[in-house]
Amino acid sequence: MVIRDEVIKKSAELLRLGAIMLNECCPECKIPLFKLKSGEIICPSCERKVIFVKTDEEEKELLETLKSAQLEEEISKKIEEIRNKMSKIENPEEIEKLARTLSTLIDLKEKIHRKKI
Ligand SMILES: [Zn+2]
Repeated sequence: MVIRDEVIKKSAELLRLGAIMLNECCPECKIPLFKLKSGEIICPSCERKVIFVKTDEEEKELLETLKSAQLEEEISKKIEEIRNKMSKIENPEEIEKLARTLSTLIDLKEKIHRKKI
């Protein structure tokens, strides 16, 4: 599963706005869904509202664990990438920008991690 940068950015933005990451994933792109303060559930990738149909609980739980593990791994990779980039650049503005992205990603990763426990 490849997660585009803008999906991660969008997810981070949703969290900042007070949205909650759900255990459910988007049926299209398998990315965790977010519940907005308004109660709407949206996918950060397709940017559309999602309506749930209940499926077999156990199967769903297993799939979700797998998916969030994959997502966590993807985010870890991104964090590594940014760390590597940071060590090579000297422009303070650029470093600051990367540092912000890094802290957002770490936040996101922690949130996913907590969900799994
Ligand atoms: Zn989607």
